[in-house]
Amino acid sequence: MRQNTVWATILLVAAFAAHAAQPVATGHGGAVATISDEASKAAMEILNTGGNAVDAAVAAAAVLGVTDPFSCGIGGGGFMLIYSAKDQRVIALDHRETAPAYFSPGVFQQDGKAMDWSATVPNGIAVGVPGTVRGWHEALARYGNMPLSKVLAPAIRVATRGFTVGPNFNRIATLNEAKFARFSSTSKLYLRDGKALPVGTHFRNPDLADTYRLLARSGVKAFYEGPLAASIVKAVNTPPTNPGVSVLSARMTLNDLKDYEARLRQPIHSTYRGYEVYGMPTPSSGGIAIAEALNILENYDLKSLPRAEAEHLYLEASRLAFADRNAYVADSEFIDVPRDGLLSRDYARERARLIDARATHGKVAQGDPYPYQDDQSVPLRPQPVLAAEPAHTTHLTVSDREGNVVAYTFTIEDWGGSGIVVPGRGFLLNNEMTDFDFSGPHPNVPEAGKRPRSSMSPTIVLQAGKPAFALGSPGGSTIITTVLQTLVNHVDLGMSLADAVAAPRLSQRNGDRTQVETLTGFPGSAQARALAKFGHQWNETDQIGAANAIRFNDDGTVTAVSEPVRHGGGSALVQKP
Ligand code: GLU
Repeated sequence: MRQNTVWATILLVAAFAAHAAQPVATGHGGAVATISDEASKAAMEILNTGGNAVDAAVAAAAVLGVTDPFSCGIGGGGFMLIYSAKDQRVIALDHRETAPAYFSPGVFQQDGKAMDWSATVPNGIAVGVPGTVRGWHEALARYGNMPLSKVLAPAIRVATRGFTVGPNFNRIATLNEAKFARFSSTSKLYLRDGKALPVGTHFRNPDLADTYRLLARSGVKAFYEGPLAASIVKAVNTPPTNPGVSVLSARMTLNDLKDYEARLRQPIHSTYRGYEVYGMPTPSSGGIAIAEALNILENYDLKSLPRAEAEHLYLEASRLAFADRNAYVADSEFIDVPRDGLLSRDYARERARLIDARATHGKVAQGDPYPYQDDQSVPLRPQPVLAAEPAHTTHLTVSDREGNVVAYTFTIEDWGGSGIVVPGRGFLLNNEMTDFDFSGPHPNVPEAGKRPRSSMSPTIVLQAGKPAFALGSPGGSTIITTVLQTLVNHVDLGMSLADAVAAPRLSQRNGDRTQVETLTGFPGSAQARALAKFGHQWNETDQIGAANAIRFNDDGTVTAVSEPVRHGGGSALVQKP
């Protein structure tokens, strides 16, 4: 008993400390939330010198490429959702990595069998044509105020001067020592004597500073054509391996880079309890899955229910949406996704009827959205596949004084991507191609020019035509549940956006068990006991996601919110506190 009391006190103090430390800033003007203080400061510097939210988002992203290089960078791709105050509309900018021309559905098979997922990651074959630089260029050219040369300045400074290696940088590099040791360029940059750089090391990346300088001087073309493009292709096809290391061969070409295009897309639009929710369309599955789950939840008055019952419904709605997402969603430039059916309210009502409000009954099958489609063509009814999708990436949210908002999630896929640093250029190449399903028939099989299905879910929510809040998170397929749960916490469970972000995360992706976090103290809690009564079982992991969000308050102020403890804690700033 006494010991329990001591533990309860320790947990309470820890929870209080975590809560007290949460980066939350309220004020006027622009706002930013990222996972890195250096990145948030870069965004502020740009906002304070005439840049808008798009300029600030790119500046912060470029800094994250230096300080959080294992999550994101110019060797990868991403999705940027922009609310343009002038046009009063939301734009989705897809700059996801794309399969090179040599790709075919069998590219990740050997003797007709799917290759082992993790064995394919640290290889050139896992690398897709990077989209980040093209995405930054399009975002700035269409919606920004500043040229690339200006917004890259803070990142060039950080890469040149360096920064102190923190516990999170060290933790992720430690997890990836074996991968990084495969390549001479990577072990030279990120390891010392085969080990991750210790906490406290002063780390500089002059090669990346030079690469950014080149882009600042010569623009987007310098990435997709010429010597830098050639060095990327060379690193993919003949990676600089250390002795004794063999790699799966790849055949990316200079044309693959030259032909790369970012795409402006119609965002997914849905409504939820009077809010208008804008999410990322395909090749992300995030916007559709979140909208479907919210449509299912709208059949219940969650506000009036006890918290455990509301959370049970959230888990079951997520389970149903994931069954459909796993079965039907992929790059719609290549396959017919039954989008309208999946987004239909009548379909959501049909799905909601499968929920038992008293108990979970485990895994569910995908539904049949086709009767709810206007377009009845080419029904593809594949088997649901739940591929291994670990949890990485970064998300940032920025707004400016004009009312523009950017929610930006970008990635190199796995921690450290493919593990290949482009020699002399200072950045890691992605392994985004391993987001394809390795065997079919399935909508998400690899094909030349296709973009692998993603879960990244930058989200902007409007109310009465004005931004109400915006958010996003890293975390592979848990991104969808993190964004969905944060929304439900905030809109239905009455939490402030800060509390909604800090609350323990529960991720149900149509598995036998629900993934929960140890870091936020969920296992063994009263909340866990109450939910377990519905039959839920847990699968523990240390942490899920790292959300960064902004709330536009009714009194005209703005609140930036980041993580208290996940990913080492984030950073939230406003222009005029
Ligand atoms: N590759 C993932 C996706 O696009 C993001 C990487 C991760 O968070 O694991 O959904």
